[in-house]
Amino acid sequence: MPKILIIEDEVELVRVLRSYLEGSNFTVFSAGKGDHGLALWAQEHPDLVILDLNLPGMDGLDIAREIRRKDDTPIIMLTARVEETDRLIGLELGADDYITKPFSPREVVARVKAVLRRTGAPAAKNRVMSFGSLEIDVDAHKVIRADEEVDLTPSEFALLETLASQPGRVFSRLQLLEAIQGDAYEGYERTIDAHIKNLRAKIEPDTKNPIYIETVFGIGYRFSSNSDL
Ligand code: CA
Repeated sequence: MPKILIIEDEVELVRVLRSYLEGSNFTVFSAGKGDHGLALWAQEHPDLVILDLNLPGMDGLDIAREIRRKDDTPIIMLTARVEETDRLIGLELGADDYITKPFSPREVVARVKAVLRRTGAPAAKNRVMSFGSLEIDVDAHKVIRADEEVDLTPSEFALLETLASQPGRVFSRLQLLEAIQGDAYEGYERTIDAHIKNLRAKIEPDTKNPIYIETVFGIGYRFSSNSDL
């Protein structure tokens, strides 16, 4: 049974989440404080962490940073704040999803399952990714669309590979910048928009209605998870 660690100080919320998650056959551990949460994380090696942003003492962002420094355990952030910046911060830190309070426990269970499905994909990467008439050969650094090879710059290729390797996952501009150049400087995120524009011109059948690379308003981009492409 997959193990879920909940780090949240609201006792009633933990109780409800625990009961729903256990009802879906997850094993649940919980902590009301950050340091205890981190200790449990190190001890139990959970498959996923549900992490409250607003905790007494060590807050959720510090905990996410600490976990990310050591491992890539999937993290779902719980946040009471709805500001876009907080969502961005969560994504920058490598949170795999975020949920804004108030939420229904059913929704949380659904998101947990979705994140586990996405992150638990077979480790052996398929080096040729196929999406309808678009084919990405990672080893050969080749992209074929409608049987014709598309000429991409190294940045465009890295961007496409990053997005397409996790269909449905939202990437912020800063994350994409980091993926294509190994580091990222705040303020340069908009260069991603220019790369995306060029990339779309090369791979999208209709750039006005992109089917492969979708814009996620206020956050960034994602590769379509539509399996009927
Ligand atoms: Ca809290």
